Amino acid sequence: MINLILFGPPGSGKGTQAQRLVEKYDIAHWSTGDMFRFELSNHTELGQLAKSYMDKGQLVPDEVTISMLKKRMESGKATNGFILDGFPRNIVQAQALDTLLEEKNLKITALLSLEVDEEELINRLLNRGKVSGRADDINEEIIRRRLQVYKEETTPVYNYYAEKQLAVQVNGMGTIDEIFEELCLLIDDRYTTQFVY
Ligand code: AMP
Repeated sequence: MINLILFGPPGSGKGTQAQRLVEKYDIAHWSTGDMFRFELSNHTELGQLAKSYMDKGQLVPDEVTISMLKKRMESGKATNGFILDGFPRNIVQAQALDTLLEEKNLKITALLSLEVDEEELINRLLNRGKVSGRADDINEEIIRRRLQVYKEETTPVYNYYAEKQLAVQVNGMGTIDEIFEELCLLIDDRYTTQFVY
């Protein structure tokens, strides 16, 4: 099993790389941002609640986010493992994840952190906004707010896993293919069990 946290600021390529990794390693993809957008497109109460935070570039409250993820983890299959994308985003969520995984007798294999310069992040997000129409990618002020939230609330999560010797930094500045290749090399080298006959 490979149980990964794909970590990094908004615009660092987590979603793009996660999609490719789940295909290659046949593992589940759990993106809390995608879950909220799904709820939103289905006009659920949870979607409406999440929108009020997402539109401002703020985090959705922990209880809401954790219980949504818990439900998804319990109903989904992850025989070969999973990638968490966009979660945990603060220490409370990291601790809640520990509890959730303990209950299931599972462990995080690694946290892979995509490292990208701030100006590059802003450009990528503004460009993505033109195509995706995501409300939180269109406005530069909201983008800066999200990056601020990331710095203040989310970066401590890296240290939380670094203390457990589980955090690894990956250069997130190249092309999509280059970054994917680097992630795969790392995963194959360190985390998949290789049988040599
Ligand atoms: P993302 O697609 O991961 O960039 O998430 C988009 C937005 O969804 C974020 O700006 C938050 O408002 C919300 N969101 C996603 N994941 C979380 C999380 N783990 N905790 C709180 N809010 C989240």
